[in-house]
Amino acid sequence: MLQVVDVETQPIRAYEPFIGAEGVEELVALGRELAGARVLHLNATAYGGGVSELLRSMIPIYRGLGIEAEWQVITGDEAFFEVTKCLHNALQGGKFPLGDRGRATYVEQSRRNAEALEGEWDFLIVHDPQPVAMRHFRPGDGGRWIWRCHIDTSNPNSAAVELLEPYVEEHDAIVFTLPQFAPEAWDNSVVRTMAPGIDPLSPKNMDLPPQVHDQIALWLGVDPHRPLMTQVSRFDSWKDPMGVVDVFRVVREEVPGLQLALLGSMALDDPEGWRLYDRIREEAVGDRDLHVATNITGVSNIEVNAFQRLSDVVIQKSIREGFGLVVSETLWKETPVVAGRAGGIPVQMPEGIGGVLATTDEEYAEGVLRMLREPELARDLAAKGREHVRRHFLITRLVADELRLLRDLG
Ligand code: UDP
Repeated sequence: MLQVVDVETQPIRAYEPFIGAEGVEELVALGRELAGARVLHLNATAYGGGVSELLRSMIPIYRGLGIEAEWQVITGDEAFFEVTKCLHNALQGGKFPLGDRGRATYVEQSRRNAEALEGEWDFLIVHDPQPVAMRHFRPGDGGRWIWRCHIDTSNPNSAAVELLEPYVEEHDAIVFTLPQFAPEAWDNSVVRTMAPGIDPLSPKNMDLPPQVHDQIALWLGVDPHRPLMTQVSRFDSWKDPMGVVDVFRVVREEVPGLQLALLGSMALDDPEGWRLYDRIREEAVGDRDLHVATNITGVSNIEVNAFQRLSDVVIQKSIREGFGLVVSETLWKETPVVAGRAGGIPVQMPEGIGGVLATTDEEYAEGVLRMLREPELARDLAAKGREHVRRHFLITRLVADELRLLRDLG
């Protein structure tokens, strides 16, 4: 049996302050059309990274709408997750060093996960490459299978596409975050695009009184009265945490007393994260204003929330990005963002909204400096960012998009 992640039920009315009575009614109506449907979401980890963040909020909303939703997590050993991380990197355009042994590990563990899957489901939504081969090993399964790809597959390594193509094509529908992420080779009959969204009611995004965020900063060794820039990300080379340290050091020349916080969650399915974390910790030795903290040392939702609020500027130095939930999370708190022109980031920060987009290290340093030196401009951009998120990137919009797909497949 796969691990079931225990989550509660969220009444949809709780979202009325953010989406209005009309938004609530739309969801209630969709829920009615799918009442009693059994929906299983499958992914690779119960914590760490954007997918678990989404599922933690979506499953309770589904349930609040009268749908029988559940969240299960597949299993795998280190060798399996090395392979899936390699697939993840290759789908984002990285190298594909996977030999026959790695492929066999992937296929064999997918078979085991498929056999361990229990229950009768009308819809199975499998997230990212880790569980995508499972459908192949459930040939008689009567449910509708949907592959939900969250990563940036706009320029994938063709060897990874070839490996996954037969598995992807066995799904009834595939869903990408942006239209440009759909590789031509994956020609399913139903292809949809849905951007993710944030949950305004979660501890990560709810309002916090300033004395709480100041106290949390002090607890993590950060002075809340000195300027602070922060990146909140898994330790992943696509998020370029070492590059963030370089930008920080350049900007600090101009803004003495500037602090950098790197908050990163370590996920079970991401062995690369631990290696990068060690490198960053080495950088932090001897630099009292460079703070590295993780879920292992007590950084959870409230701490991330506090840092996204109290930072003068948040940086997201992504080279490749599926969506980058952290951008919407930060803008929701009216904190300006300097972020990469990667994946879903520009749709969250169109021109004049949210902060500054950057590509080169110089652009990042200039952007951060500008947000620190022009606080009125920064506040205005960030306030517009919050409204943009409210309109387009709340979790309720994502649930509505997904329910429409299920209804259409039904
Ligand atoms: N996150 C967290 N703690 C950390 C680092 C990240 O809770 O120390 C969360 C972050 O708030 C966001 C998610 O992990 O909700 C990352 O999602 P995103 O889409 O930005 O990137 P992904 O990790 O999915 O590539």
